[in-house]
Amino acid sequence: MSETPDRYNRHHILEVIGKSGQKKLSQARVLIVGCGALGTHSAEYLARGGIGELRLVDRDFVDWSNLQRQIAFTEEDVRNGTPKAIALKKHLEKANSSIQIKAEPTEFQFFNALKLAENVDLVIDASDNIPTRFLINDLSWKTGTPWIYGGAIETRGHALFFSGTRGPCLRCYMGEPPPPGTLQTCDTAGVLGPAVAMVSSIQASMAMRTLIGDRPELLGGRLFRLDSWNMEWKESRLEADPDCPVCVHRHFDFLQGKGQHGTEALCGREAVQVHPKSGESIDLQALAGRLESVGNVECHSRYLRLTTDDFTMTLFDDQRAIFDGLTDASKARNLYSRYVGD
Ligand SMILES: [Zn+2]
Repeated sequence: MSETPDRYNRHHILEVIGKSGQKKLSQARVLIVGCGALGTHSAEYLARGGIGELRLVDRDFVDWSNLQRQIAFTEEDVRNGTPKAIALKKHLEKANSSIQIKAEPTEFQFFNALKLAENVDLVIDASDNIPTRFLINDLSWKTGTPWIYGGAIETRGHALFFSGTRGPCLRCYMGEPPPPGTLQTCDTAGVLGPAVAMVSSIQASMAMRTLIGDRPELLGGRLFRLDSWNMEWKESRLEADPDCPVCVHRHFDFLQGKGQHGTEALCGREAVQVHPKSGESIDLQALAGRLESVGNVECHSRYLRLTTDDFTMTLFDDQRAIFDGLTDASKARNLYSRYVGD
């Protein structure tokens, strides 16, 4: 700390934070689910702002289409196929070496959600799908941890704060997730970089306010929507559902596995993801040795990559695999059984 006395000066002199607020930020732990466009932006503000511990979770690795808006990543990350959580951690450590940053190159799922979120003070949703948000909502109400929803598509975005203790919650607002494929995504409709930056700035600002304890309850139940092209900003109120399964009846279906898939095509690219049945870790070094006869194998600390003429398999240490070059889920599942096991 002595070598960086001025690092947080602009927070110290800021009325709403001050030295006491900065101390609270330095003791806070935040989980960021998703290290894409929203995640890279909010992590940047929170790391530079001195949040004591950041946990970064993401299932994917960096590709060319990410660079337009995912500010932490470089062309070198794409060439190396670096997992996003690892690339983001490396980037943030250069900006602030005095905080704890943990990279988790895994998928946020019902069987690892509670562990990934253990002892955190806040969860930031920077995911790209509704089932993950329902899972975060369950986790939030089960553990009493606040969370902040963020979404951006085309030139529009929205953000919502949920306390985890007092409704409304996401289920009050959305009921059930819409069927897969019925919503537009960034992969089908596109997204403007600054729209993402505006949403994630709101999320980061809400996060700091919550962690300092500056009446975060005033944020609850308010839906903030913006259009970054037409310069419009709207706010509306959410109604609490008196019969809500989560915040009233405390049924945590998504934390029990509802809405989770064993194998799925990854939206927007020729790739299939295969989930393991559990998140137990695997001995990558030993497996890499066995796969050498199949193709070219690179072994890293948290993942290995097998490249053949037909596909590239990236296998993470939680047994999850992504097959690039395939769109057939059953073929991916068969290859997984053959090379990794059932
Ligand atoms: Zn609810």
